[in-house]
Amino acid sequence: MGDNPPLVKAVDMAKKYGDFIALYPLNVEVNSGEFFGVFGPNGAGKSTFIKLLTGQLKPSKGQIEVLGINAIKSPQKVKANIGIVPESESPPSYLTPVEFLQFVAKLRDIENSEAEVEYWIDWFGLEDKRHTMCKDLSKGQRQKVMLASAFIHKPKLLFLDEPFANLDPIYQRKCREWLIEHVRNGGTIFLCSHVLEMAERMCNRMAIINDGKVLAAGTVRGLKNNSEETLEDVFIRLVGKSIEDVEKQLEQEANEEE
Ligand code: ADP
Repeated sequence: MGDNPPLVKAVDMAKKYGDFIALYPLNVEVNSGEFFGVFGPNGAGKSTFIKLLTGQLKPSKGQIEVLGINAIKSPQKVKANIGIVPESESPPSYLTPVEFLQFVAKLRDIENSEAEVEYWIDWFGLEDKRHTMCKDLSKGQRQKVMLASAFIHKPKLLFLDEPFANLDPIYQRKCREWLIEHVRNGGTIFLCSHVLEMAERMCNRMAIINDGKVLAAGTVRGLKNNSEETLEDVFIRLVGKSIEDVEKQLEQEANEEE
């Protein structure tokens, strides 16, 4: 951890959509060189978590700093300085992969942009689709274009929301290896997913969330508590318990109303 300030710092951060609490107040810090993962079932609040940290949503309360920038006051500045791969988002439908990557390269002021674009088209095996409009690509191909647009500028801090959902196992592995190497070379990654396997294979620190609450957080090894339990056992135990708690609470509320 050292003396370096955290790259991501949220204090007492919470989010409500109307009356619905999507994220209860939480604190999080991610330090330079970490591979941090947030895991939880569908609807747990993972995308909300990432959107708050990346300036895409304003919190209902709390403070958020990313790369030392106030993400509530200056969301555009945060977005300009990080990489984001949002969940199930697609590149613009009427651009080809080459056009979209050239646009990103220009925006990100990338040197040798033409050669870089060619490199990533090739890396993702999109040579035959280089001039196909993105609307005519498969979901997996569109996801490759989105990942290429993040990888091309090698962001110091990269946020990924369910990054491998539509990739085949070969590209999952290829991307996983690239991300691990990126962190080895000084990058920092914040990822969220419901695929626990990613935690074991990539993350050094993680949080498990459900119903907007952090159920556990720590190093991957720490969460397993050095026991025989697998991470999946820990996850199911924690998430199962939180579902039981909610059911008990609902039952109690119903009894009180009677
Ligand atoms: P996850 O990414 O873990 O699947 P989300 O953060 O997308 O979860 O959603 C958390 C909860 O907040 C879900 O119950 C979802 O229905 C709700 N939610 C998300 N976005 C909105 C919104 N814009 N308006 C109302 N409710 C929302």
